[in-house]
Amino acid sequence: MLLRLAWRQSLIRLLLFYAFALGLGLALGEPWWALGLATLALAARAYWRLYRVLRFLDWRKQLRTVDGQGLWAALETLIHRRQTENRRRSRRLVRLLRAYRQAATAMPDGALVIHRRDGRLVWFNKTARHLLGLRYPQSLGEPLADFFAGQTRVRDWLASGQTDEPLLDLPSPADPMVRISLRLIPYSAREWMVVVRDVTKLMRLEQVRRDFVANVSHELRTPLTVVHGYLDMIEPEEHPELAVMVEEMRRQSQRMTQLVEDLLTLSRLEAQESLPEEPLAMAPMLVTLRREAEALSQGRHEVRVLDEAGCDLTGSTKELHSAFSNLVSNAIRYTPTGGRVTIRFEKVAGGGVRLAVQDTGYGIPEQHLPRITERFYRVSTSRSRESGGTGLGLSIVKHVLSLHQARLDVESEVGRGSTFACVFGPARVRMRSQAGDDLEDVS
Ligand code: ADP
Repeated sequence: MLLRLAWRQSLIRLLLFYAFALGLGLALGEPWWALGLATLALAARAYWRLYRVLRFLDWRKQLRTVDGQGLWAALETLIHRRQTENRRRSRRLVRLLRAYRQAATAMPDGALVIHRRDGRLVWFNKTARHLLGLRYPQSLGEPLADFFAGQTRVRDWLASGQTDEPLLDLPSPADPMVRISLRLIPYSAREWMVVVRDVTKLMRLEQVRRDFVANVSHELRTPLTVVHGYLDMIEPEEHPELAVMVEEMRRQSQRMTQLVEDLLTLSRLEAQESLPEEPLAMAPMLVTLRREAEALSQGRHEVRVLDEAGCDLTGSTKELHSAFSNLVSNAIRYTPTGGRVTIRFEKVAGGGVRLAVQDTGYGIPEQHLPRITERFYRVSTSRSRESGGTGLGLSIVKHVLSLHQARLDVESEVGRGSTFACVFGPARVRMRSQAGDDLEDVS
């Protein structure tokens, strides 16, 4: 609309101008001179307007007023409109950016942006500066891992790019008394965001909780041993009227002893960062597991052991034995008479191995599976109690496995049975020793 009007106005004005020049020229008897002068004047005016437009296009200057009509004025109006829009947009963007930066700075957590490729710092907020002892701007461009001298796990964690697993409980490089956690967040194709959190209080509380459980369990041990001892001294034949009561008291005190032992095992595992790295011969381990399964089953189940992986493991023999036998004991306890329990040691894709304990028992409803490794979590409390369970077995298994960088895979179907598998990475696999100790027991 604006352009069409401008075209029309320009054309009319041009025609009028030339008509006037021609009229004047004819009156003076020099029409060609008049037309020539008019063309020159027009060209000079066009150059002047062009110069004005170019000057306005220089980004620092703003076109303030648009005067006149016609094509040049239309051009200036369009430029003015664009300039105003751009200015407004960039002002809004700057405002937004400032707000984001203020929000990031005010965050109680430390936030850093690092290069994905080499972990070098691109940006960090004030909290990150305090928590990690960074200096602005000197620390920019430095690799983040360099600030954690002696903590190789930060470098490994960054290199592995684990965005779902935060790195917990690290000493702060600024103050070793401050404990921090790091979380990696994918930010853009080339950058990562790292969120640093002060977890000192949380870790202290966690420690208090751990100590409390460990101390209570420890303190309960002695009185329980005494009660146990005295109960063992009572001969039911001598006091037939007490026989039922004594039997029940013995059962309960045994359950309590088992509970205390399991709690102490868990506390001990929680306090450890790593376990001994010993060669673990799997053939004798499988023999032991079969023996334990058969002893627990008392002939009520079919027990099968399949040693298909043909290799051994590296890890703590004692702890892994306890984890495996927990799974075997569960399989027997939660499988009715006549069922089958299969212990299979096999290879998995990627060079790892797994020890799977499969049963044809009651199975576990799907909604319980995510919580099954929590302490004291039981699908059926009465069934667990009846079978002498403490509700801590799978927590122990999970802890032992995580100390071996392994995981517990659970598959189950109600009425058909369950498979609990300990999956180990290739780093835990070792060639099978040919020492001829294959049939020896590990216990
Ligand atoms: P518990 O000492 O009660 O057996 P666990 O931690 O070993 O405690 O197991 C937690 C719960 O998981 C059990 O109470 C039981 O309900 C369920 N569970 C574990 N293993 C099996 C299995 N093989 N078949 C069915 N349910 C199982």
